[in-house]
Amino acid sequence: MINRYSQVTCLRSLDFAYDTTPPQDIPTKTLLQILQSPVQYQRVNVSVCVVEERENSEEFTKGNTVTPLKKVVYAVSDQTASLLLTVWGTHTFCLKNWYHFSDVSVRNFMGQTTLTTTRDTNIQTIPHAGPSVDPIVDDITTTEGELSMVNIDVQHLCPKRHSLDSVNFSTLMTRCHSCKAFCKTAKLSAVARGTLTIIDEAGTQHSFNLTDKLIRETLSLNPGPLPQPDELAALFLHHDRATVTTKGSRVLSVLVDAPPEAPSSEDAATAMA
Ligand SMILES: [Zn+2]
Repeated sequence: MINRYSQVTCLRSLDFAYDTTPPQDIPTKTLLQILQSPVQYQRVNVSVCVVEERENSEEFTKGNTVTPLKKVVYAVSDQTASLLLTVWGTHTFCLKNWYHFSDVSVRNFMGQTTLTTTRDTNIQTIPHAGPSVDPIVDDITTTEGELSMVNIDVQHLCPKRHSLDSVNFSTLMTRCHSCKAFCKTAKLSAVARGTLTIIDEAGTQHSFNLTDKLIRETLSLNPGPLPQPDELAALFLHHDRATVTTKGSRVLSVLVDAPPEAPSSEDAATAMA
């Protein structure tokens, strides 16, 4: 019964789209069958050879913003086709061995059909099922060049993830207009995003979008508060060169050359003494 005390929750914010198929009715499909009918969010069982590890990271999921979850992308193949499979959580696979994955979800990412494990996925070792097709080829590109431009924005969020217009970090509290409440300034979070431009050997300019994760990884920044945008930009532009790895339009990693020698804090302390 729905009455005025009922709460309606929007399913779009769920980590995994809701699929009501009971486990016993989930079909076992070959990878080719999945590619021929790549209906997003359908649940399937697959028996595949785990061929290669492609990406390895830790990410926050929508349902869990406290502890990051291990996320590994594998190229998997059967006798019909090859796909990328994202495995969440800690699992160990012997590459080139075969496994049965029950209850995995079909996704479409930038025109590419992929599979991802769900919280209901079960993984079992199975006997080798003969030769599998060659692993899927990634369109991974590496661009190297001189760093020429960077633009960084920093957005501050209240503990309930509302965007705040301006924050004065020397004050105890900040008012969030969405919450209609004051929050402790120390409990605000910061999200950076930006663009980076490099010039390759041929003189061509390449611009890339940077996510918060990439910016923090590249600059070795911890989760939590961030420096001002101009300070972040300066941290990038202290470097001369950058190597950017992309897959389609998505940036996978940014490597910058070693920064010029800066005096360590110990040296600075000695100099001041
Ligand atoms: Zn708020």
